[in-house]
Amino acid sequence: MEEGMLPPLSLSAKFEGSFAYLTVRDRLPAILTKVIDTIHRNKEYFFKEYGEEGIEAEKRAISFLSKLRNEVQTDKPVLALADNAEDTETWNQYLQRQQERMPDGEPVSWFKAPWLYVECYMYRRFQEALYLNPPMDTFDVFKEGKTQSFFESQQAIISLCTYLQELITNMENMSELQLKEHFLKLLQVSLWGNKCDLSISAGLDNSQKSNPIDALPDLQRFILVDDSNKVWSTLVAAQGCRSSGTKRARVDIILDNAGFELVTDLVLADFLVSAGLAKQIRFYGKSFPWFVSDVTKQDFEWTIMQVLASNHKWMSASAVQWKHFMKDGTWSYHDHPFWTLPHEFCDMATDAADLYTMLQGSDLILFKGDLNYRKLTGDRIWEHTVRFDRALRGFQPAPLCSIRTLKANVQVGLQPGQAEQLSSEDPDWMTNGKYAVIQFSSPLREQ
Ligand code: MG
Repeated sequence: MEEGMLPPLSLSAKFEGSFAYLTVRDRLPAILTKVIDTIHRNKEYFFKEYGEEGIEAEKRAISFLSKLRNEVQTDKPVLALADNAEDTETWNQYLQRQQERMPDGEPVSWFKAPWLYVECYMYRRFQEALYLNPPMDTFDVFKEGKTQSFFESQQAIISLCTYLQELITNMENMSELQLKEHFLKLLQVSLWGNKCDLSISAGLDNSQKSNPIDALPDLQRFILVDDSNKVWSTLVAAQGCRSSGTKRARVDIILDNAGFELVTDLVLADFLVSAGLAKQIRFYGKSFPWFVSDVTKQDFEWTIMQVLASNHKWMSASAVQWKHFMKDGTWSYHDHPFWTLPHEFCDMATDAADLYTMLQGSDLILFKGDLNYRKLTGDRIWEHTVRFDRALRGFQPAPLCSIRTLKANVQVGLQPGQAEQLSSEDPDWMTNGKYAVIQFSSPLREQ
């Protein structure tokens, strides 16, 4: 079958009758319930901040979201957005696009539309509930969970910052081989940091308690595809090519979650700069609260400030350096509306040409997490042995690497028989977050 023809995953097509179907189908209402509870619990806050106007807004938002929960649970048609934000028109056009694909003019509904689309859309509808009800429009319904995940991971963050600072102190005398070993460790820490995803557990505890470096050897066997050697070679090559020219080796990190995971990404980015492997790091986050735990600009700044405010000397020393990187432009944070749209990444070159062009200037793009993987591969029902390059369907702005723990029903680039063996050993291997990949693709790679 032509890859363009592969059906996208949807609630009714792929999972009917299976355990995964129930998990997925129950996940959206569970998250909706949590959002409603959070708004309700913050009633006092809205009253204190905005008086009666705040209370009225809270009531209207809750009623909007309760109606939405009913629409999701009973497979009602997906409704167009009624707010007036920068991306409203794009979302409504996308709904139209989905409608044109429905057989016999059937309406696009929550169970029948592609899962990637409806799941993204639910998070955009949360924003609609807030946009339509000022003064609540700047409220982050997921802030509490993200904050909690950060504080509950304090010990792990201390271990990691201590490791980083000791590493930087001794870096001058290190051989390339030693640097590589440390790079591989920090890449894996950033990989396993991706386990701490609140959208998968509907916001239940997902913090990191133990020392993340010590845990690595035991986790190694759960990495199903490990292209980290290629990632290292790409960094070394970029550094070599660029050192003589005027351009500066640049790494772009498309972030996933706030809390512990974000700290692992910042530590990795610090290492890349301190070791001279990159001269510039661009971080990309979301323009509004997204998939429960995803990083927004506010989370990014808050996290650096919290690390800075720590009593632990290596934690605060790390953040002093990070603030310095932000100030002198070595690091920069960016958002773009495309990251909070439902589009597959193969659409980026046409639907967000400015972003695609920006990414083309990178020497290495790291895509963190599951949602990025789904968008890279289009969330299609691929054979597990299909090459990663092929599943990208032309999305190749620069050498790129997906770093994800598996939480969704899509995985490509496995060896023949690997998926079958995993299925017999652990039937939920694709969704239980136990397994991971570091999967690389380069436009320069020999085919
Ligand atoms: Mg996430």
